[in-house]
Amino acid sequence: MRVSVIGCGHLGIPHAAAMAEIGHEVIGVDLDQAKIDRLNAGECPIYEHGLPELLSTHTATGRLRFTTSLAEAAEFADIHFLAVGTPIDADGRSYDTGQVFGAARALAPHLTRPTVIVGKSTVTVGTSRDLGALLARLSPAGEDVEVVWNPEFLREGHAIDDTLRPDRIVVGVPSARAEDAVRQVYAPLLANGIPLFVTDPATAELIKGAANAYLGMKISFINGVADMCTAAGADVQQLTEAIGLDPRIGRGGLNAGPGYGGGCLPKDVRAFTASARTLGATEAATMLRAAEEVNESRPTAALRLIEQTLGRPVDAVRITVWGASFKAGTDDVRESPALAIAALMHQRGATVTVHDPHAVPTALRRHPELDYCETLEGSLAAAELIVLATEWPHFREADPKALAPLVADQVLVDLRNLIDADAWRMAGWTVRQLGRPAQE
Ligand code: NAD
Repeated sequence: MRVSVIGCGHLGIPHAAAMAEIGHEVIGVDLDQAKIDRLNAGECPIYEHGLPELLSTHTATGRLRFTTSLAEAAEFADIHFLAVGTPIDADGRSYDTGQVFGAARALAPHLTRPTVIVGKSTVTVGTSRDLGALLARLSPAGEDVEVVWNPEFLREGHAIDDTLRPDRIVVGVPSARAEDAVRQVYAPLLANGIPLFVTDPATAELIKGAANAYLGMKISFINGVADMCTAAGADVQQLTEAIGLDPRIGRGGLNAGPGYGGGCLPKDVRAFTASARTLGATEAATMLRAAEEVNESRPTAALRLIEQTLGRPVDAVRITVWGASFKAGTDDVRESPALAIAALMHQRGATVTVHDPHAVPTALRRHPELDYCETLEGSLAAAELIVLATEWPHFREADPKALAPLVADQVLVDLRNLIDADAWRMAGWTVRQLGRPAQE
């Protein structure tokens, strides 16, 4: 099929590349000319495992190309994926759907034949209906332009795998014709046994919000329990393994840490909480808000642990933070807990150097007040404390013996429970891990 992907960001680029990989002819559209030029040259503007290879393969064959012209995309494709951003609104609680409606308004005049628009962005319930009405009104093809909602569940760092082998594909369809179109576009994935869950558009929109709200609650739950473990001298890692064996709870997504971050989870929990309130589900809103409050408290909880370990305030202490991205496998630093903690310690008077294997350039744009170092060894120069804040394997593999001479004091606070604490302690380090006893 000939498809377009409108919006070439963390979602759109992997989606466009994956659609080419499963055999479609694909045109990606973005407003950002510099990004389009890089993409057409086969260059990858984001760090995402396996994406550069797919981009260069499919741009070379011509099966995948990029443009800034929606007119060109409308002429070329019969199905358009909408993957533009939906940042949090100025009120800080609901989605700003300006990019979604802006792209639709710009595309509409070019839609002269029957077309299916497949919304992938995360939106408030009701957006699909409003978008369908707008496109029917503004497009020459009128009611023959239909809107399907197909929320995206990919995880950054696993975007290609999650697009080619998702747990499920959810589609909210307004008609049998629209359902046929999505079945056709995803046929190669369905043939591999990927389940297709077909529902109405409102349910599809809420499925996405509910899934991320649940994941956020799960993380906040275990982080709250980690605080209990810290106070009781218990071990959150062992507790997690034990409760995770219950299939009703499950081990996945249940890792104590510095809190959830990124371009999705924080805003999705916020927006879902606001929807719950708007829809009159006040108790659900209270429960979700509690999960947000736990998450908002993570930087101060981390600072508490750091200061306990140091035995003094961080003021005037030279601290190295390992990790800037909100999680491993991405250079995305949106709402990154690692950077929130680094910035908080900087505000409290610490001298903070941040090292990340891939996210230093993106972090520097967001937090220019911090110092950065591209190399792990270089980041340690005379550090009095290391805070491990992002779970890059690179940090797990670091050799505690080799690093010891580089620091002023051998002290490490592991907010991800990533390292082999015994090995570090054997090499002379004082190690504190989140939600675990001070010394095992
Ligand atoms: P992003 O900000 O990285 O990318 C959005 C892109 O859309 C930008 O490149 C922007 O220039 C482009 N754009 C804006 N208006 C446009 C227009 N009129 N025409 C063409 N391009 C336009 O955002 P993202 O992280 O890719 O997220 C996109 C959507 O996907 C959001 O709704 C997000 O919640 C959802 N989502 C993201 C992920 C993820 O892992 N990032 C996962 C699931 C769902």
